[in-house]
Amino acid sequence: MLAYQHAYHAGNFADVHKHLGLRQLVSVMMRKSSAISFVDTHAGRGLYPLAAAETQKLGEFHDGIERLWQRRRSFGVESPIGEWLASLATLQSGSELSRYPGSPWWLGSTLRSQDRLTLFELHPGEHRHLSDQTVSPHAGVQRRHADGLKGLVKLVPVSTPRLCVLIDPSYEKKDEYQEVAETLIQVVRKVRHAVVLIWYPLLPAGRHRLLLDTLRQAGIPKLWRSELQVREPIADRGMYGSGLLLLNSPWQLDRELNHAFTTLASVLADGARHQGEWWTGEA
Ligand code: SAM
Repeated sequence: MLAYQHAYHAGNFADVHKHLGLRQLVSVMMRKSSAISFVDTHAGRGLYPLAAAETQKLGEFHDGIERLWQRRRSFGVESPIGEWLASLATLQSGSELSRYPGSPWWLGSTLRSQDRLTLFELHPGEHRHLSDQTVSPHAGVQRRHADGLKGLVKLVPVSTPRLCVLIDPSYEKKDEYQEVAETLIQVVRKVRHAVVLIWYPLLPAGRHRLLLDTLRQAGIPKLWRSELQVREPIADRGMYGSGLLLLNSPWQLDRELNHAFTTLASVLADGARHQGEWWTGEA
């Protein structure tokens, strides 16, 4: 049974880390005109009103997007964070931050006519929300009520010259780390040049290491890892950080992200830190 609902966590520090990285990745890939198929394997909803009861209940956005929003004038308009906040501003009705978008919007809102976007969402209620929301001005968006990892494997190879995938599970099941690793291995076998961004939580149990180690042992090359730690790991305090694994990072994106995420850490919490490193090198 699927219990997780992203509305309880929308706009938290992990969303900010993930969506800033995702938007920067998309923007760098779009510097070339050739068509891209985007796939979001665990889409959630397109948009989250911050006043919603679920989002207010935990109020996680106060320690995430709200901190950046309050300091938005301090970022250069052409810096990655400044540009990212400017996109977010287009969704607000005034100067107040009232809505935060999910990955379908971060991927869909800059889609070009030659690109495609496939969104997988398995939870019936979340899929209904997603179907009711506009995430892109273009027609090339498909919303599928299906398992995202199995769906991705069936979908590849794609007909466009380039492929960009976001894998962002809720990790409700312990074996999801292994499933994600196995899915990536299958995708790379079919599309060696696939660009894939995987999100994972940093939890005291450290289960994300299974994902990282499986991929390294399988010999998957060119994986860049970014970990943003906002507090020390304490047994019963849950998620202490957010991780991203990027396969086939475009040229120099790792340097741009390192810089943006270091700035992000300094805004999110006292003592927060970012570490970016190549987890695996060239083949
Ligand atoms: N990617 C979203 C974003 O960044 O805004 C957040 C996604 S949330 C972490 C995970 C989502 O995956 C939930 O909406 C959940 O219902 C959905 N989900 C869980 N298992 C799934 C599966 N096997 N296939 C597709 N979606 C699934």
